[in-house]
Amino acid sequence: MSPSSTTFAQLGLSAPLLRALSEKNYLHPSPIQAEAIPHLLAGRDVMGSAQTGTGKTAAFALPILQRLSENPLPRTPRSPRALILTPTRELAVQIGDNFTAYGKHLQLRHAVIYGGVGQMPQVRAAHVADIAIATPGRLLDLASQGHIRFDRVEILVLDEADRMLDMGFAPDIKRIIGKLPAQRQSLLFSATMPPSILDLAARVVQKPVRVAMTPETPTVDRIAQSVVHVEHGQKYPCLRQLLGENPKKLVLVFMRTKHGANKLARNLERDGFHAEAIHGNKSQSARQRALESFRSGHTPILVATDVAARGIDVKNISLVVNYDLPEEPEAYVHRIGRTARAGTEGRAISFCESDDRRDLQAIQRMIRKTIPVLKITAAPLEKSAAPRPATPHAPAHVPAHSPAHAAPRAAAHPPAHSHPRATAHSPAHAPAPYREHRPHHESRPRHEPRPRHESTARYESAARHEHAPRTEHAPRSDYAPRPAGTHAPTPHGQRARPAQRSYFQRQRRGTYRSGWQP
Ligand code: AMP
Repeated sequence: MSPSSTTFAQLGLSAPLLRALSEKNYLHPSPIQAEAIPHLLAGRDVMGSAQTGTGKTAAFALPILQRLSENPLPRTPRSPRALILTPTRELAVQIGDNFTAYGKHLQLRHAVIYGGVGQMPQVRAAHVADIAIATPGRLLDLASQGHIRFDRVEILVLDEADRMLDMGFAPDIKRIIGKLPAQRQSLLFSATMPPSILDLAARVVQKPVRVAMTPETPTVDRIAQSVVHVEHGQKYPCLRQLLGENPKKLVLVFMRTKHGANKLARNLERDGFHAEAIHGNKSQSARQRALESFRSGHTPILVATDVAARGIDVKNISLVVNYDLPEEPEAYVHRIGRTARAGTEGRAISFCESDDRRDLQAIQRMIRKTIPVLKITAAPLEKSAAPRPATPHAPAHVPAHSPAHAAPRAAAHPPAHSHPRATAHSPAHAPAPYREHRPHHESRPRHEPRPRHESTARYESAARHEHAPRTEHAPRSDYAPRPAGTHAPTPHGQRARPAQRSYFQRQRRGTYRSGWQP
């Protein structure tokens, strides 16, 4: 029976679960669900190659809910009957949400346990939980304080086992496994199966059924991937261009560093886009808030680091941008797997500077295909202050340099094109209409250039239009040093004052960071 023609009822799931599934509008099991659920209902151990995006969570959550509810036992405080270990807080929360949805017609309770937040709510939830979904560190912490015990665990799931080992959880996992009853059902899911995972599996699962989904391949095949070869300093203008071309869309942008993610989100906000950063340094509640805001479309651009990547289960992400290529090729698949979720289509565009060629080759070797090259011509400077659309997602076609995401702010503030400086002088990424029209009593954020006298700006704008060499108009990064001698002369033959602090000034102030952009 092909998975697409299989129904959940044919897998042997109980009526309360079928009801919950039909309420979620899940019509057919995904391949991994069709393959794993019957074995799990029969009590077999399972070892699966599967990543998020394949429907793996339901593949283990549904049988767990069914097996526990069919064999009801009086609840023992602080003693869950099923334990799910997962690498990140986001994944733990996401798995918890899945249990809530699938188990809504059952009486089972679960606790989601992860670090970085106060422990009391989790302690209370663990007291009455049938199912614990946890990151290893906080779980051991609670166990050492006597808030949770493992002696009644009947089912263990190691979710994203490779990632947990990568993150250094091996000792914690071994300690937890050492505390579990030997008689139990065990499941291990991992995207990759390196020797370290096989070692771990030898300790955890017994005579497992191998559910070898080719990991995420079907998802990756659905994603239209492309690579944009960019000059140093051109990533930001290219990103703006892409965002402008994708109004109404949820866009996820990946960067290597937390600092970079913060800075990029700030620069996008400055330029009128609604963007937020999400990474490991943010508090759990801030991460959840950012995710919710992204999911609802309120903040349609999310800038993330790899640590935050796996927990991002948002349907309808239409574009993933690898602003920085990942260092590990595996991370590429995880990142782009955030789009094309649950059978939808998606696009992934990666920026590649000449220094990144090796990383690109490693990725192409891993996915066994050459990623097609896409050419982006970033918006020319002088058009950057074109009027912005009046409503957030109204226009069918938005010029690349007048991003639709920017509209709410633009509506709140008069457009910048009436201002001489904003019309011709601002770099492509800095139209900042709100900046020009901010009331005087509002203070100027540190990252914004000091406003200049209008007449100076007019000279500069005239100079740029009439005398400046073509290269002058190339959009450039805020932090890329301007080539020497490129400040155009004013009509009086004098050099115009640069719009922003020079590279050297910024270096003295410590605000110039080499190798980072924008
Ligand atoms: P997962 O791989 O568990 O992270 O699931 C990926 C996404 O697919 C989640 O948003 C699930 O809600 C969704 N999903 C899981 N199973 C199904 C199904 N059988 N039909 C439709 N969507 C599903």
